[in-house]
Amino acid sequence: MSALKALKGVGDKTLTSLHEEALFSCEDIVTRWPKRYESRFFFTDDRLPADAYVYVALKATSEIKTARIRQKLQVLSFDAIGVSDRQWRIKVYNQTFLRRLVNPDVALVALAKQTGPNTLTAMRIWRAQSFSEGIVPVYGLKHLTDHQFTKLLKQCLAMIQMRHDPLPEELVRKYRLLDFQTVLTWAHEPPDDAALVQVKRRLKYQELFDYQMRVRWQRHTHRQLQGSAKTIDTVRLRELVESLPFTLTDSQKKTLREIYTDLASPRVMHRLLQGDTGSGKTVVAFVSMAMVIWSGQQVAFMAPTELLARQHFDTLSAWAESAGFKVALLSGATPSKARKALLQQLASGTLDGLIGTHALFSKDVIYHNLGLVITDEQHRFGVAQRHALQKKGMRPDVLYLSATPIPRTLGMTLFGDMDLSTLASRPGQSDKVTTKLVTMQDRPTVREAMRNALKAGEQIYVVAPLIDDAEDQSQKGVITLYETLCRRYKEAKIGLVHGRLPAEDKATTLEAFRRGALDILVATSVIEVGIHAPLASLMIIYHAERFGYAQLHQLRGRVGRAQTKGLCLLIHPQDQAAVERLEVMTRVHDGFVLSEYDFKQRGFGDLVGLMQSGHLRFEHADHVEDFNIMKCALEDAEAIVEAYHKTGRYQGFIERTKNQLARYARQ
Ligand code: ADP
Ligand code: MG
Repeated sequence: MSALKALKGVGDKTLTSLHEEALFSCEDIVTRWPKRYESRFFFTDDRLPADAYVYVALKATSEIKTARIRQKLQVLSFDAIGVSDRQWRIKVYNQTFLRRLVNPDVALVALAKQTGPNTLTAMRIWRAQSFSEGIVPVYGLKHLTDHQFTKLLKQCLAMIQMRHDPLPEELVRKYRLLDFQTVLTWAHEPPDDAALVQVKRRLKYQELFDYQMRVRWQRHTHRQLQGSAKTIDTVRLRELVESLPFTLTDSQKKTLREIYTDLASPRVMHRLLQGDTGSGKTVVAFVSMAMVIWSGQQVAFMAPTELLARQHFDTLSAWAESAGFKVALLSGATPSKARKALLQQLASGTLDGLIGTHALFSKDVIYHNLGLVITDEQHRFGVAQRHALQKKGMRPDVLYLSATPIPRTLGMTLFGDMDLSTLASRPGQSDKVTTKLVTMQDRPTVREAMRNALKAGEQIYVVAPLIDDAEDQSQKGVITLYETLCRRYKEAKIGLVHGRLPAEDKATTLEAFRRGALDILVATSVIEVGIHAPLASLMIIYHAERFGYAQLHQLRGRVGRAQTKGLCLLIHPQDQAAVERLEVMTRVHDGFVLSEYDFKQRGFGDLVGLMQSGHLRFEHADHVEDFNIMKCALEDAEAIVEAYHKTGRYQGFIERTKNQLARYARQ
């Protein structure tokens, strides 16, 4: 039975509504914070503004009359007297329930504006006794009206003495935050605007602190997790590294040493390897794979899409063969017979590595001895998959690969539960992609670059932010660009991809481009992460000023990957601000530096977009504006988890964090 049933006015129906709002206890109710506040103060002049709605006190002097203007439009009207006994005719549209409310002599409040010499048009009308003047919280729940909710809230507020402040006392003192009891009262019944400022400050900090506690605690538990320590054959490892067609860069070596240490330790690895596209993450992943396989365990390599899985498979299987182990590709396209055989080999342990999409962790996939999971673009390997694995009783090491350059400080707050390795530079490519700014009017430059590339048998990307043309014709969308190019380059094979096309068509076109079967690929930024077309040498980006630096950098990372030298043309309007901003791209070739610029200029909205990260939606805090609070919260949470670890203090806060994590895991 729910504790809420004891409240006055809660029957089965209300109870269901409460549950649908995820409200199960008085504590849940009092911590359901208002979405916003309305300032409701009476307008006391007898002349009302014509351009704004204001609150006015009225007394009805007639019954209500209804007139139907057309279907679904009814006007209700009645007479009333207002301030200074002024006579008004009040009009309201469609709110037929008012017929019960409005009678002569009833005191009312209207949110209204003046629409005629003696006419007020009301947006809302209340009985005076159910209207409260002041700053009024708006909860905006789906299943309960604010009126219903407030009634229950009042009971809960009167009953509940929060046993614990969810923030440690010293933090409340350190930042001079409101104590919890006061927050509860003031948030739901704010005495004035100044109180709300205090409430907001406390709720922001609280939210970020809770978030950081979850992250820190997760990191802490990851570090405690005991998996299997791998026995790594260092002689073979050295041989493998020496047999590679190139020398590893210093940062690749350093990263491999870090991974080696993790694998050799019984602690479960949870490492994020960050590096620009082309920085050589795949090789690192491959060597890590070899270490684990030689120690007698299996490796799963998960890519975000089928296309990328196939691409990784092509690279890895060639290398694997020379390293003496066997990997296979599991994809949606694998015929069921082949799939069955494959799964059998996997279960018996004759297959060493499996590459594929998240299907690698579906129910029927059983590993003999899974020792390492590598995932490309870390954000896609969610909590759900980790749980699925743990349910199978496995605690493999996990290596996340990410091409999104995230500024260090931000990385710490976002991925604080992982260890970080970073690949610094792009290897084997001393001359970076040349980047040039081109104005929209300068068509000859664009055409010449395109002709040169086509003549040399190299491939071209043409990217623009929009699918359709802008309504005011100021921007061409990719569809128009595609049509224009088809007319101009009749002999070229041209493909088009954008977000509205079915996933299958997109995949087919991308695959064709990757194989070299298409010369030009016109696309929105959907091509950002992932595909390598080794022959692509030219990247043309229209309306480059619309993209963030990190995004532009990822785009240009698509060209000049193998033998070809890359050229990137950033096309922009003749506009000083755009030129100044884009000019940075011609000088700076380090994705991390660029992402720092992005972060400073535009906050990390862009980066979050790149990562498609849904887990950073805060109710009170703004992850850009309140980034400094986030940093404080990070340090505080870290100190608390550490203190708990050493002395057992803060047990209650740790329990609270665990409960929150459990709640998230269930969602
Ligand atoms: P990422 O996965 O980070 O995008 P890749 O691993 O695909 O990058 O590497 C990009 C290209 O650079 C590949 O062709 C790869 O073989 C090559 N490469 C990787 N490491 C080195 C190195 N140390 N020296 C020269 N070339 C390298
Ligand atoms: Mg890669």
